[in-house]
Amino acid sequence: MKLAARVQQVTPSMTLAISAKAKAMKAEGLDVCSFSAGEPDFDTPEHIRAAVKKALDDGKTRYGPASGEPRLRAAIATKLQTDNHLAYNAENIIVTNGGKHSLYALMMTTIEPGDEVIIPAPYWVSYPEMVKLAGGTPVVISTTTQSGYKITPEQLQKAITPKTKFLIFNSPSNPTGVVYTPDEVRALAEVIVANNIWVVADEIYEKILYDGAQHLSIGAVSDAIFERTIVSNGFAKAYAMTGWRLGYLAGPVELIKAANTLQSQSTSNVCTFAQYGAIAALESPQDCVATMLKAFAKRRRGIVDLVNAIPGLSCVVPDGSFYIFIDISKTQLKSFDFCSRLLNEKYVAAVPGVAFGDDTGIRVSYATDMDTIERGIERLSDFVQSIM
Ligand SMILES: *Cc1c(COP(=O)(O)O)cnc(C)c1O
Repeated sequence: MKLAARVQQVTPSMTLAISAKAKAMKAEGLDVCSFSAGEPDFDTPEHIRAAVKKALDDGKTRYGPASGEPRLRAAIATKLQTDNHLAYNAENIIVTNGGKHSLYALMMTTIEPGDEVIIPAPYWVSYPEMVKLAGGTPVVISTTTQSGYKITPEQLQKAITPKTKFLIFNSPSNPTGVVYTPDEVRALAEVIVANNIWVVADEIYEKILYDGAQHLSIGAVSDAIFERTIVSNGFAKAYAMTGWRLGYLAGPVELIKAANTLQSQSTSNVCTFAQYGAIAALESPQDCVATMLKAFAKRRRGIVDLVNAIPGLSCVVPDGSFYIFIDISKTQLKSFDFCSRLLNEKYVAAVPGVAFGDDTGIRVSYATDMDTIERGIERLSDFVQSIM
């Protein structure tokens, strides 16, 4: 059968592909150090699991509203008001099958052929592919280690054209761990408002911050930017709930209604009982987040020091998320070749920067135990010595 051009122009997720290969090698009995997965290595906290077991016993096993359980939408609105200072109500929220799906629903709801979407690189692998699936054109702004992988207001202004629909703003960032300071967020907000474009804030890593770094939701900067903001978030990263597939989109009522129509004709509601886990996550004390964060903070310090001690490699010290983006430009290898050889020769799995729109780096996730970090980075060091 001839397949639709729509899917032929899309690249499959390289992070998922590398993780699968690393898993297969492990299954063969090889001692693989895996840094490729973009997920916390912790189990979902006990009280969240307990809430779902109860929901199952209470019969929360049927179809629900396509936009989500009313109690969860209300809890999300409260969270956005208190944590993020965003004046959303339940009617501004739709519950989706993960943060990835909320972004997909958003693009399908807003993008028309020819629309441009501005994406700072290194970017999360799915952004440009989703824009293309929706018929739009990704416009990538490149950044460098010198700017700490951040875009400037001037770069944003230059990238804007009459066709620009929105900027995708991911801070803390996957894959670099970069967090924009409140002042930097305000400066970008000014450009967005002045040019009448929108901003999509992917805030999935907002809770994973280090060394006093602050997260300012761009929509909280002013009333003017709030009117031009759409928030995407989810439960996967903060609460170790990756497999649950729970996320949400917050924005103007008419957009949420349109996303609801799309969802009602495609996925219906998100797994009903799983949503009760999300309610428990939001309505319970947040100690579990702090506990995981403490572990991430320790590993981050460890891995940054180990990597920056390797001659030929370096990384920008990340302020958030659980990734480092290692600059491999001195090795002269392309990121895909670097990662293939690292996996085949040293059994270390990392993701090539080319998947994130930057061929000079590789992404290493430190959402893994300290022992794997120490053994894996030593192998990385051996590998770099062997090629330089
Ligand atoms: C993990 C991630 C998401 C969403 O993940 P889900 O599992 O679909 O909730 C969204 N954006 C970024 C940048 C991510 O890393």
